[in-house]
Amino acid sequence: MDLFYTSTRDDSVRVKASQAVLQGLSAEGGLFVPEEIPALDRGLEELAGMTYQEIAFEVMKLFLTDFTREELLHCIEKAYDSKFDTPEIVPVREADGVSYLELFHGPTIAFKDMALSILPHLMTTAAGKNQVQDEIVILTATSGDTGKAALAGFAKVPGTRIVVFYPKDGVSPIQEKQMVTQKGKNTFVVGIRGNFDDAQSGVKEIFGDAVLKAEMKAAGFRFSSANSINIGRLVPQIVYYVYACARLYKKGALKEGGTVNAVVPTGNFGNILAAYYAKRMGLPLGRLICASNENRVLYDFFRTGCYDRNREFILTSSPSMDILISSNLERLIYEIGGRDSGKAAALMKRLSEEGSYEITPDMQEKLGDFYGNYASEEETAAAIRRIYEKTGYVLDPHTAVAEGVYEKYRAETGDEKVTVIASTASPFKFTGSVMKGLGQECGAADDFELADRLSGLSGTEIPGAVREIRNAEVLHHRVVEVKDMKTAVKEFLGLA
Ligand SMILES: *Cc1c(COP(=O)(O)O)cnc(C)c1O
Repeated sequence: MDLFYTSTRDDSVRVKASQAVLQGLSAEGGLFVPEEIPALDRGLEELAGMTYQEIAFEVMKLFLTDFTREELLHCIEKAYDSKFDTPEIVPVREADGVSYLELFHGPTIAFKDMALSILPHLMTTAAGKNQVQDEIVILTATSGDTGKAALAGFAKVPGTRIVVFYPKDGVSPIQEKQMVTQKGKNTFVVGIRGNFDDAQSGVKEIFGDAVLKAEMKAAGFRFSSANSINIGRLVPQIVYYVYACARLYKKGALKEGGTVNAVVPTGNFGNILAAYYAKRMGLPLGRLICASNENRVLYDFFRTGCYDRNREFILTSSPSMDILISSNLERLIYEIGGRDSGKAAALMKRLSEEGSYEITPDMQEKLGDFYGNYASEEETAAAIRRIYEKTGYVLDPHTAVAEGVYEKYRAETGDEKVTVIASTASPFKFTGSVMKGLGQECGAADDFELADRLSGLSGTEIPGAVREIRNAEVLHHRVVEVKDMKTAVKEFLGLA
């Protein structure tokens, strides 16, 4: 039986999974949601005997019902292979009585690899199924992390090209080096003279350019987007929660009838929404603990029922969570509003016009699965230091935000149930903040020297992703003015 997808803002929309993956966003601006959340059809006993890839198949077959078994197996095999630095794909590490779900063993050592390593294959498969002959051109603006993860995912994937724009002076030296050393003839990395917002607006303008779209069509190209609202990114993220429970069950930490709390360092609300879907599928998850940094919009939302982005944007040591509009929250709003697209559309309209909205008390009552809190910069640094001193395990700043919030949660509720913390980045990706958290003097050392020192302190090897770029050749030199972004794209596609 096929599972169809509708839109959070228009319930007359009804598309198949492959169409939702290809389209990304529904035409009226809503997000695609499954008409119902399917139930897991395997028990923990069975799942406990499976590999990551096998569990990925068990989850994805329920959501992507118009993909054949062979197609799904092919996508999974292409995605979760030796690009990951461990055959387990997602190791679960024990420290201080908590399980850390290490989602950072992919090519860019952060959790976005979990979804972006499979999205290109889902997209090209979806294109084939829908008689789309055009080459897919991914266009992305990045503030640092997503760009590299998308490049790594799409590089050398037949039938795709990818263009990434980044603010020339607005990303860290390691992030820039990661992008400009990207291999693959189908990749194109361009610095712009402007900030992230300029890059983002430029990309939106190119997407909306009807003349260019016609030229592209004539030449056999079509644009697509790899951003985190695509269900082709959401569904692969459900997999690791199922995998975590299966591992804990196998170890005896999770008993039949028991539950597992999940703590998730949150920005765009994609990762924690996957946990929510997993729970709705019947996975024995308990509390979903939403951890924010000082940009605590979500903490305020869970506390008051009011979402308000009208506030100062704070730059923190966990930059991938520096976000004031958590796009994926719209899917939760839709669920707690009784799957009423009119209601969700009205709230999202208020968000775009006034920057805030308030949910009704009965919607608020349905948020019982969640607990929200935040960690300040000091609390984040303290968490890195505390866990290191107690166990020798080093957390990255994003994961440390989760740890800081988990400490508050336990103090407040006394809940000592089995808990997993989603560990979203390797500490080697944010060496400066990590070394500071550990109380180390950094002086003028660059990120690579700090990586050497962190390796000594933590007794862990520097990940391949960092070692490789240290001496890698710079392959992308292009820097353009904002107004020339479109020309750059056309040149890359041979249309200029
Ligand atoms: C993107 C990201 C997050 C936030 O995840 P969301 O799905 O946007 O909530 C947290 N940590 C790291 C390291 C990330 O890259």
